[in-house]
Amino acid sequence: MNIKIVSIFPDVLGTYGDQGNARVLEYLARSTGATTELVSVGINDVVPVDGDLYLLGGGEDGPQALAARRLQAGAPLQRVVERGRPILAICAGYQILGRSFVAEGKTLPGLNILPADSVPATRRMVGEVLSEPLIGIGQALMTGFENHGSMTVLDDGVEPLARIRRGSGNGRDGYDGVIVGSVIGSYMHGPILARNPGLACHLLSCAGLGEVQPSRRHRQLHHERARAQIESLWRTVRA
Ligand code: GLN
Repeated sequence: MNIKIVSIFPDVLGTYGDQGNARVLEYLARSTGATTELVSVGINDVVPVDGDLYLLGGGEDGPQALAARRLQAGAPLQRVVERGRPILAICAGYQILGRSFVAEGKTLPGLNILPADSVPATRRMVGEVLSEPLIGIGQALMTGFENHGSMTVLDDGVEPLARIRRGSGNGRDGYDGVIVGSVIGSYMHGPILARNPGLACHLLSCAGLGEVQPSRRHRQLHHERARAQIESLWRTVRA
């Protein structure tokens, strides 16, 4: 099987290293014997709609607004959603998929794929995140790093991705991210798929690869990060 991974605008939505998610997926997919094609779509390129798995990363307000404008034209991601293909969107990318978001003080229209609005918070949310996934990905905990000025308000009844144990995630509801059909949003950089092998395997399964197992090294990295976070939480509790 061949899997086509489409990384959207890593040239402008690459500030936080989320393009690493594509590398993790490539590596994992190949470990199952599949072949991979990684398409990095530049900000001036046409977004292919025949991919198997789509990735969007985080970025500053200016590039985020530009990326949203480009993705309005021809609505390629809406077509991807209609095809039921998985999309993983991080931070600025996650906000873009909602109904509206704020960049450089202006409220801008999102792609209306997720029933959510992102609005400025009173303080910037920066630091490590520890959360409990609310979907079965074979991990009790997820870790990541967040750095954002806006929070995301999900419509009532919309399922978040994880319950926050440390950090802010969506900002005020005690949860991080969202899961709507095969679209997953999160505030977690890291990159999230390097730190959370279960989520990477889940996405590849959604893309049609069947059961995928992470390597020992990948699981070890996850455990190291989770343990470091728990130990640091303990220190805070005891202080
Ligand atoms: N510009 C957005 C915010 O500050 C997204 C930041 C990011 O992608 N890390 O909320």
